[in-house]
Amino acid sequence: MSSGAPKWVAALVDSVGAQGLYTYRLPPDLKVAVGDILSVPFGSQQLGAIAIQLLSTPPPDLAPADIRPVAAVISRGMFSPTYWQLLERVAAYYQTSLIQVIRTALPPGLLGRSQRRLRLLPDAIPPEAEMFLSPAAVCVLSQLQQSAQGDYTWQYLRQKCRGAYRGIQALVDRGWAESYLALPTPPRPQRRQAVTVVQVPTPEDPTVTKRQREVLSLLQRRGGDLWLQEALQYCRTTSATMRSLARKGLLVIEEREVLRQPASPELGADHPKVLTAPQQTAVETLRTDQSFAMVLLHGVTGSGKTEVYLQAIAPRLAAGQSALVLVPEIGLTPQLTDRFQQRFGDRVYVYHSGLSDGERYDAWRRMLQGEPMVVIGTRSAVFSPLPQLGIIILDEEHDGSFKQDQPMPCYHARTVAQWRAELDDCPLVLGTATPSLESWSAQQLRAIAEATEPQPASPEATSQSAATLPPRHYLVLPDRVHQRPPPPITVVDMRLELQIGNRSIFSRSLRSALETMKSREEQGILFIQRRGHSSFVSCRECGHVMMCPHCDVSLSYHQSRSGAAEMLRCHYCGFGQMQPPRCPACDSQYLKHFGSGTQRVEQAIAQELPELRCLRFDSDTTRAKGAHRALLARFAQGEADVLVGTQMLTKGIDLPQVTVVGIIAADGLLYMADYRASERAFQVLTQVAGRAGRGEQPGRVILQTYNPENPVVQAVKSQDIQHFLTTEQQQRQALDYPPAGRLVLLRITSPDRAAAEHTAQDLAAHLASRLDEAWSLLGPVPAPILRVARRYRWQVLLKGAIAAPIPDLTDLAKQCPAHVSLTIDVDPLNLM
Ligand code: ADP
Ligand code: ZN
Ligand code: ZN
Repeated sequence: MSSGAPKWVAALVDSVGAQGLYTYRLPPDLKVAVGDILSVPFGSQQLGAIAIQLLSTPPPDLAPADIRPVAAVISRGMFSPTYWQLLERVAAYYQTSLIQVIRTALPPGLLGRSQRRLRLLPDAIPPEAEMFLSPAAVCVLSQLQQSAQGDYTWQYLRQKCRGAYRGIQALVDRGWAESYLALPTPPRPQRRQAVTVVQVPTPEDPTVTKRQREVLSLLQRRGGDLWLQEALQYCRTTSATMRSLARKGLLVIEEREVLRQPASPELGADHPKVLTAPQQTAVETLRTDQSFAMVLLHGVTGSGKTEVYLQAIAPRLAAGQSALVLVPEIGLTPQLTDRFQQRFGDRVYVYHSGLSDGERYDAWRRMLQGEPMVVIGTRSAVFSPLPQLGIIILDEEHDGSFKQDQPMPCYHARTVAQWRAELDDCPLVLGTATPSLESWSAQQLRAIAEATEPQPASPEATSQSAATLPPRHYLVLPDRVHQRPPPPITVVDMRLELQIGNRSIFSRSLRSALETMKSREEQGILFIQRRGHSSFVSCRECGHVMMCPHCDVSLSYHQSRSGAAEMLRCHYCGFGQMQPPRCPACDSQYLKHFGSGTQRVEQAIAQELPELRCLRFDSDTTRAKGAHRALLARFAQGEADVLVGTQMLTKGIDLPQVTVVGIIAADGLLYMADYRASERAFQVLTQVAGRAGRGEQPGRVILQTYNPENPVVQAVKSQDIQHFLTTEQQQRQALDYPPAGRLVLLRITSPDRAAAEHTAQDLAAHLASRLDEAWSLLGPVPAPILRVARRYRWQVLLKGAIAAPIPDLTDLAKQCPAHVSLTIDVDPLNLM
């Protein structure tokens, strides 16, 4: 063995009560690769572990003699080595430990389900072996000898024999039995009976009755292969009839494993469409360039991006590769998942945090089996262990929910997806109607570098040369499919409405648009910003405001439908209580909510436009599982004329019959104390506007605001996105904000008010002394909402030049007292 060869391995022990990285020695004759499943000693037990990192030096805090050896390799190549490289990179960049990243990535207890078993080696056992053994060992031996296989779990033997552990050890030491780890098996794979027609009887066959023939032909009409239960219902027959057909050899009834795929309604098949010219260019780029590249697919809503994804994925599947599709929120994109399932059938797997443990476990089992599949999932699905990854798609790439605020690692799925595409050498497609400034500027940078490439660059200038930047493509789908024009956007100045005495939340234009819409039997969408602060409850006599007992915020009023219970809820910690009938401070009965949210819009419609039927689409009415889909279906079936909703409306819904989109008040979005407020407002307003006129009828958008001159409103109106992004980019550049600079946010929280403040000050003072001039320190300051969920929150912001390496901050946690916690958020999106 050469001196540089690894002699140690860091292995992930992941069992009930034990999860962590531990170092083991590699016996000279044992070949171990990263990703192998090992059997390792752990305390007095033998546990399953995953080889994560091969080491050529042992950790400094361990004496080599104390490091125990790996016992065996149980399974090879279950995870690809690049998978663990990815997790290491996430840990390093987001300044947290590898084990913390593993906890985010892997479903807990993946190996915990494996069992340690003891197997008798009968040939090695001498006659009268009992003579040499202790009573415990004799007990274990006789248990094994009495069993048919000579094989039991440790757990069983422990129940049967006193002192089983020492008995087992004695048998193993003598070589009379061996201990091994049984690979994880699914807890209880669901099995169901299926019927398959295998033969059609000849018309002359006298043994087959008329009724039996009927059943067979009904089955064939449904493809000849059904679950037994469905077949019985469909053919209106009994299982006795089925069994007699089976006995005649005409059909087969067998048990089949059902993967716990979350149920989706019956879907028809869907076929590839003939592509438009820009779609064709996009698909061809993705088909020719199969190695790592960043592809920004910029297309307005309805321009056919999803069709591009589908046609780019198809050849990868055919080549035996898999595809990963990341979306902001699964519940909000049922239509996207449906289209994937219609195109690719049961090769599509939906993976998100709402799955049950069983569903999640099944998904992992299938992924690790390595058959080509399409995984559609939210943020954490970026860690799906898909081997043979052929393409990654990140839809709605501008969406903030791809970023995790807490707990650590505070990762951005787009950044992780980029590393993953790089490691697995496949393209990453970023699809959006409103590119994030990050993706757009990176694209510009690459274009500039390429344009200047022919000139010989000096060695110092290589950081800007095209060769060191990831390959990028900018693909534009400029038009809606079928040349449906984008809807015109009318900006209404609400100040003028007030001047002429219109106090309604509906301007005259919006009102008349809604009336026309109703008369033509078309449908509309009314958008209101989520979580307006005006939905608080206060007393009209004494001014008392209902506050969350755990946070420094007012409670928000919620009522899922008229007549339902009136609830108050905290949007920060989830605290909820009933709306009290009287003011807790003065006992007045005039304790009222000042809503301007969806409920108020609903009420205003009832009062002012009573002929309009409306449905509310917000976090109250869509809380239940599957509620999004159900509500959208009810709307699509014409159960209402208008859908009143929040930001949820901006995501992936395709409602062709919508012709009018009304934005009740853009203002709430425009003035948020955040350097990203304009970008976010532009994205949301553009996305909402894009919901109009997606069907045969042209649409229109009415945007109401008290600030029509606002540049964001102007940019939305003109839809000049390049101009907007250029201006925004210049503003960020002037202030060194991302993407022109970079930020790291330290969040310091504690139930102890003074401890949070003092720790923040200590950390800031400590950092000030060691940061180089590329970084500046802002704070410490109390967070905009000081107390959330009983914890006081302070923050320190580090701002650095874009090219400056991020300083290592991992030692800071050690400087925090026990009851103070520190979160390091690299590239934070949310500064609140
Ligand atoms: P996006 O994902 O950009 O919003 P979609 O892919 O959903 O756009 O396309 C919008 C609509 O146009 C969908 O109903 C889709 O089925 C249809 N469509 C997309 N591409 C084509 C095409 N090449 N030919 C015909 N219809 C298409
Ligand atoms: Zn009061
Ligand atoms: Zn709260």
